[in-house]
Amino acid sequence: MIPAGRSPLDETVSQSLDIEQAGGEIHDRIRRLYPICRSITGNGVRETLRIIAGEIPIDIREVPSGTAAFDWHIPREWNIRDAYIKNSAGERVVDFNASNLHVVSYSVPVRSRMSLAQLQPHLFSIPDHPDWIPYKTSYYRETWGFCLSERQRSALRDELYEVCIDSTLENGHLTYGECCLPGTETGEVLFSTHVCHPSLCNDNLSGVSLAVSLAKRLQSRKRRYTYRFLFVPGTIGAIAWLSLNEKRATAVKHGLVLACIGDRGRLSYKQSRQGIAEIDRVVQHVLTQSDPGGRVEEFSPYGYDERQYCSPGFNLPVGVLSRTPHGQFAEYHTSADNLDLVDAASLADSLETCLSIVEVLEANGTFLNTSPKCEPQLGKRGLYAAMGGHSADNRRQEAALLWILNQSDGTQSLLDIAGKSGLPFAVIRAAATALLDNGLLRPSV
Ligand code: ZN
Repeated sequence: MIPAGRSPLDETVSQSLDIEQAGGEIHDRIRRLYPICRSITGNGVRETLRIIAGEIPIDIREVPSGTAAFDWHIPREWNIRDAYIKNSAGERVVDFNASNLHVVSYSVPVRSRMSLAQLQPHLFSIPDHPDWIPYKTSYYRETWGFCLSERQRSALRDELYEVCIDSTLENGHLTYGECCLPGTETGEVLFSTHVCHPSLCNDNLSGVSLAVSLAKRLQSRKRRYTYRFLFVPGTIGAIAWLSLNEKRATAVKHGLVLACIGDRGRLSYKQSRQGIAEIDRVVQHVLTQSDPGGRVEEFSPYGYDERQYCSPGFNLPVGVLSRTPHGQFAEYHTSADNLDLVDAASLADSLETCLSIVEVLEANGTFLNTSPKCEPQLGKRGLYAAMGGHSADNRRQEAALLWILNQSDGTQSLLDIAGKSGLPFAVIRAAATALLDNGLLRPSV
């Protein structure tokens, strides 16, 4: 709710964005985080969060193994130091140091010698892409395995191999990060991103790095809402946060999961389970204005942590902002989801879109025309003159004034009016500010 007597529209959270600088900033951060071996628990997540903490205020939380979280328990903590397959000549034919994707995440420790036939059931490759290493996990079934390129695999001869996975799987913690930027009114905007994939860029690091850049920019802004950024291991991290913050979650008025948001594809939005929440309508409006080719999909219970936020017991208004959605690009969950797949210009465009979404959320509201009997005389208040001239911009401003005055009976928000008029929200907002300043509009309580 907007307090009477204060124009809520004179502050904007967007700022003139230096696109080139922003894209470079997000891509550079991805480059720094790329080598770290992350999983759903362990030191990789801690190291990632420590790096993020150098840029934004972040609380790093540790949830002990075994802690109950609804129908789940926090798993044991997994860490890995080294892993390899050596041939009979003692050469590392598969080496964790070359790529952390080589080991199935959560592999139990192994030290053994075995034939190729014994090794084969533990090997994973992609015949259709002979140079790519697949990404595989086994969080909840104790096993071990190696991922390798089909080319590496087909070069393995029938000999005795030394197999080593120097990992630990023991009681410890699940680690997640939380950055909270308080606002002046009640209600929170949630940005959530998963932080549990190793060297993968679009699926994982694009969302992480974009969220950091977004938080940095919102930090220095006046904020109506509280902004909460979650950097959580996928699925179990979101479940843990919801379990530990069940009451706080009710404050979430709008939310976005950020994932796969750095590739060269068009923007895409997956609606919240509610489908008609304000966030759904805001993102639709922003995409219509900025990227008419952008896709909007209905909610489905398959994807990222929206599955948890939008579970029926929470049903939070949380959608997913992506470029090419998960599973719809060939490089998904392979070593080809690398630094070349993510693009500085696309990352900057995604950040700009997030800032536009925030701008609409911050300024949207419902108002009352204080002079509703016939049109008020705008000319004598200088409102036409203020807009001056007959340029296309001025005609839009005039149209915005008339739309707002006509529709502001306390039932239509500025976003509704932007939708009906076909005018960009920024034009509607500017006209509403002028009307507020002239006393022709007041907040609807
Ligand atoms: Zn993934």
